[in-house]
Amino acid sequence: MNIDYRAEIERLKNKLDVTVVAHFYQRDEVFEMADITGDSLELARKVKADESEWTVFCGVGFMGQSVKVIAPEKRVLMPKIACCAMARMIDASYYDDSVAYMEKHGIAREDILPITYINSDATVKAKVGEMGGLVCTSSNAYKIIEKGLESGKKILFVPDRCLGQNFAIQMGLKSCVIGEGECDPNDADIICYNGFCSVHQLFTPDDVHFYRRKYPDIKIAVHPECDPSVTALADFVGSTSQLIRYVEALDPEQKVAVGTEYNLVNRLRTKNTYVLSATKPECPTMNETTLKDLYLTLKSIEDGNPINEIEVDEHTVKYAHLALERMLEIK
Ligand code: SF4
Repeated sequence: MNIDYRAEIERLKNKLDVTVVAHFYQRDEVFEMADITGDSLELARKVKADESEWTVFCGVGFMGQSVKVIAPEKRVLMPKIACCAMARMIDASYYDDSVAYMEKHGIAREDILPITYINSDATVKAKVGEMGGLVCTSSNAYKIIEKGLESGKKILFVPDRCLGQNFAIQMGLKSCVIGEGECDPNDADIICYNGFCSVHQLFTPDDVHFYRRKYPDIKIAVHPECDPSVTALADFVGSTSQLIRYVEALDPEQKVAVGTEYNLVNRLRTKNTYVLSATKPECPTMNETTLKDLYLTLKSIEDGNPINEIEVDEHTVKYAHLALERMLEIK
C-alpha cells in the first residue's frame, strides 16, 4: 500500500497534541513539515515556550535530550536518534580527564569555569552544571564567554576546539587546545577540548582562495565551527541564523560563498549563492531522518505505542538543567 506521507503527517499533526520541531540542517522534505524550526538556541527557547504534550524532534540526539532537560514533563520522541559526530567526541570521563589536566597544571577545580557547546551529551552538560558552568551555542558564545570571564576563572571550553579558538581570537584572548602542541592552561584564557565538527572541517583555505580567484568581489561567510585558518579569511563569521540573516541582507547581485551545512545553504540558494566547497558538505546524521521516519513516529503516538522516546535520568536532568538555564538567563 502506498502511503502519502505528507498527507498522513498533516492528519496526525491535526489530531495529536504534538509539535514537530526541525533543525535547519534537516532535509527539505522533513524541514517543510515542522511547526518550529531554527538553530540550536532558537529551538531551545521556542520549545521551552511550547505547550504541546508531545515533541517530535527532527535533529540529532543532544537536541532531543536538551528539550527533555529544559522541560522534563514533555514526552520527546526522535524519528531517528542520530548522534552528532562532535558530541560523540566527548563523554563524562573525557570531560573529567580535561579537568584533571588543568588541575595537574596547578589550577584548582574551583578556579575553572567550564562552558560546553550545546552540541554535547546531557551527561557532559550535567558535569558542567555541577561545576557551576554553563552551555553556549554558536549564536551566543561571545556573550557567554564574556560573562564567564567576569568570574576571573580559567575557561574550560568543550567539545569544539574551533568555536573556542575562534571566539578567543575575536575577543583578543589567548587559547590553547589540550593535546595539541604545548598547552599550558596557565598561559591561556580559554583552554579548549580537542573536538570538532566533521562537516565544518571540510572547508579549507583553498576553497576560499578558489572562490576569491574566480569571483574577486565575492563575499565569504562561514560558521565558527570552521577551522580558524578558514574563519581568518572570511568576510563574515556567524551562527546558522546569523548566516541566514547576513546572506538575505546582501544585494541580490552580490555573490557569496557560504561555509556551512549543505541543506541550509541549498535552501538559501539564489543564482549568486554558492556552497564554499568542492564536495557536498552534508551532515550525515542530520540527514538520517526521512519523511517516512517522521510519519512512523507520529503514527506510534496515535497507536499508543510511542517509539524512540528520549529518557534522561534525574541526576543528569538536575545538573544539565542548571547549565542550560544559566545560558537562557543571559539575554
Ligand atoms: Fe554535529 Fe557537525 Fe552535524 Fe552539526 S553539522 S550535527 S556539529 S556533525
